[in-house]
Amino acid sequence: MLREIKEQITRRRALLIAPFAFAGLVVVSSRKGDDSDDHVAASGGDPGEVTLVQFSDAGENLGPAQLKRVVHSSAEWRKQLSREQYSVARQKGTDLPFTGTYYKIHTPGIFRCVCCGNALFRSEAKFDSGTGWPSFWAPIAEENIRTHKDTSLFMERVEVLCKRCDAHLGHVFNDGPEPTYLRYCMNESSLRFVRR
Ligand SMILES: [Zn+2]
Repeated sequence: MLREIKEQITRRRALLIAPFAFAGLVVVSSRKGDDSDDHVAASGGDPGEVTLVQFSDAGENLGPAQLKRVVHSSAEWRKQLSREQYSVARQKGTDLPFTGTYYKIHTPGIFRCVCCGNALFRSEAKFDSGTGWPSFWAPIAEENIRTHKDTSLFMERVEVLCKRCDAHLGHVFNDGPEPTYLRYCMNESSLRFVRR
């Protein structure tokens, strides 16, 4: 999956030449395979289930498990989440940079999905990107996220979503540090930090 993400980013980049001058062209050329990058049904099993790697709050890997996808109506999500969390996680919004606290904490712990509790990132893979958003060089398990081509705002980006509930988490870029050189740029509103 790591290689797929890198290839996605490289392909995106090829389309990124003069993004504003060729915005129309980019949109047209990327529309062809709009859903081809989705990995939702990759397992070929029950579409209502996903295979995830589970982690205890202490960060211990509990191994893979087949779990029901978490699907709620908008009204149910609104009841469960704050306005900011709903706007970011369920409506693909973006937190303002340098808000909240997650971008600057390096306390040991794991970051779970604010919607469904799926383990997403660990503090060991967190780094100071200087962007004002919590940034990681890898997810806690590649099985726990999925990526999707995002052509909104005249840009070609790779969106990162929770594999279990499809929450919007942020985007992944290829300007991160070693060892992956990836930068998972996440929104605090989509995460819940569990201190170890
Ligand atoms: Zn989730």
